[in-house]
Amino acid sequence: MSAQAQRTQSSRTSASPRKADKVRPLKGTVFITRQVHFNSAHRLHNPTKSQAWNKAQYGLCTNPHWHGHNYVLEVTVKGQPDPVTGYLIDLSELKRILNVTVVDKCDHRNLNEEVPFLRGIIPSTENLTIAFWQQIEPHIKTGKLYCVRLYETPRNYAEFFGPEVS
Ligand SMILES: [Zn+2]
Repeated sequence: MSAQAQRTQSSRTSASPRKADKVRPLKGTVFITRQVHFNSAHRLHNPTKSQAWNKAQYGLCTNPHWHGHNYVLEVTVKGQPDPVTGYLIDLSELKRILNVTVVDKCDHRNLNEEVPFLRGIIPSTENLTIAFWQQIEPHIKTGKLYCVRLYETPRNYAEFFGPEVS
């Protein structure tokens, strides 16, 4: 029997899977991102330096009566889609991780005073990306944490790609 005839015969048997019953896994590295928002107060202030130094360095950002930002946090996970689910990481799970590790602890809080994992850290956008990475990374079980990007304003953001990247 020719291959063509075999295929034709096989497609007529009820036991053979229809095209719609098959999945075709694709291979490749994917970067998937979840965005979350939170609002926080802070000030930039180095307590080891003089008031004059802080004023010269940070200007209005060192105002002792604080100021606030509408932060936008984007977290990217890198890896291969699972051949069964097609997911690299379930985005609802990534959302849950970001809420538990960052948003629930920082939203409507004073970052200098009220967030234990930020104690002793100058809460610049740069330092926050590193501190957030340290909180998030142990929770990522599928794929690898690739980037933590934090927008302090729509025009200013910092990105952190992990401690091994120089
Ligand atoms: Zn600020």
